[in-house]
Amino acid sequence: MPLHLFNTLTRQKEEFKPIDAKNVKLYCCGPTVYNFAHIGNLRTYVFEDLLRRTIARAGLGLTHVMNITDVGHLQSDADDGEDKMAIASAREQKSPWEIAKFYEEAFFADCRKLGILKPHIVCRATDHIAEMQEMIGTLEQKGFAYKAGGNQYNVYFDTAKFPHYRDFARTPEAQEAQGRVDADDNKRNPTDFVLWFTLAGSKYPNQIMKWQSPWGEGFPGWHIECSAMAAKYLGDKIDIHCGGIDHIPVHHTNEIAQSEGCFGHQWVNYWLHGEFLLLDNDKMAKSKDGFLTLQKVLDAGYSAMHYRYLILTAHYRGQLNFSWDSLDGARATYNTLCHKADEWRAAFPVAAQPGAAAKTVIQKIDAAMQDDLNSPVALSVLWEAMRNDALAVPDKLAILDAADSALGLGGATLDKPELTREQEDYLALRDTARREKNWPEADRLRAVLLETGLMLKDRPEGSSWYFVNPPAKKV
Ligand code: AMP
Ligand code: ZN
Repeated sequence: MPLHLFNTLTRQKEEFKPIDAKNVKLYCCGPTVYNFAHIGNLRTYVFEDLLRRTIARAGLGLTHVMNITDVGHLQSDADDGEDKMAIASAREQKSPWEIAKFYEEAFFADCRKLGILKPHIVCRATDHIAEMQEMIGTLEQKGFAYKAGGNQYNVYFDTAKFPHYRDFARTPEAQEAQGRVDADDNKRNPTDFVLWFTLAGSKYPNQIMKWQSPWGEGFPGWHIECSAMAAKYLGDKIDIHCGGIDHIPVHHTNEIAQSEGCFGHQWVNYWLHGEFLLLDNDKMAKSKDGFLTLQKVLDAGYSAMHYRYLILTAHYRGQLNFSWDSLDGARATYNTLCHKADEWRAAFPVAAQPGAAAKTVIQKIDAAMQDDLNSPVALSVLWEAMRNDALAVPDKLAILDAADSALGLGGATLDKPELTREQEDYLALRDTARREKNWPEADRLRAVLLETGLMLKDRPEGSSWYFVNPPAKKV
């Protein structure tokens, strides 16, 4: 079955037709690194990880790009309040650069624990100010941008010049409800948004991150970051762009206006959005007190895989209400799977090729994932096979291995040691070398990883690995 995905652009499930099957271009909006990610944010990155694995298992090559927002995201998505980095900097008495570095590292540590494959390209907003300024310059030349007084000549995007502005969100009321009306008198239209904030005489006294620009010293708006970085790494036509559902009315709407204004043609073919994780039936948000981090979940005696398993039990387009009871259930089920797998691996330590019966089950798991990432169905197919006494144990192990590749089950092994950051970076480099068919480099990195105690097994979505004793050094 070909890959089908629900496209927010058309509000329909569609067959996925890549621009280039050898290199699907996938852009995912990354974290704003002013605080720890909460487990709601992490649900969105697990959904994107499932998408990446599914694309790879469907036989397509891909480049997965994710940004790090380390400047310009104000308290409100609609240009109101202060830069979140500046607020964190004042709160923690550290420079915004230190804040960004700390929380970016914490974010990737969470992702490693959750089995989220590192994007092939991770790009920080603060490293791409020139690209953003160039894009703003093009928008100015094409008549989409204007400078307005009061707030010292910020540069705004004029949404009235982009007739399709409301097509994506389809809910104009929701946009107005975002508090964009009257937020800034300099805007010509309530939905206009800032491309470049200037500082002179501004309302941002704590803004330490700032750059010279043709419009005055200042900092970029949040939305332009993604448009500029996606263009740099993926070009002016991309296959898939993802994020959480809250990005539809403002951030992604604004990204479309900027990029399509700049390029003069449709920019993204498929938009995918993950639904929210709720806590007590309310949206979990970083700006609210008491949000749950992965560390809090670990401190409560669960593993990251227990949380990932819980996420997999719900479809990414449905809300998931977090509760400790449901996490208990996920823990029990995941642990049962690992115990069974451990017994079987002890009896059959050498992996076998799947027989015909196992291949049929693996195809069903892939078909479920290729049907708009239906992980609950994939899990039920897996469990049916695990409980089926007619299936031989080596076949069950082969199915489990494929399910691990499709769903990221942490190797279905309890107490698997964690990767170090260094090992993860080497794995990402090796993945890139394989994508580029640079086999000597891939072999070199395989040997480097073995030195660190990781034995690799190549899979479509990246490498799986298990720990071995590093080879003794020759003297
Ligand atoms: P942020 O770091 O705030 O920019 O958000 C990172 C990602 O998490 C974005 O794609 C958001 O849409 C997503 N997100 C925010 N809150 C939630 C939530 N409660 N559940 C799921 N995803 C969320
Ligand atoms: Zn974005």
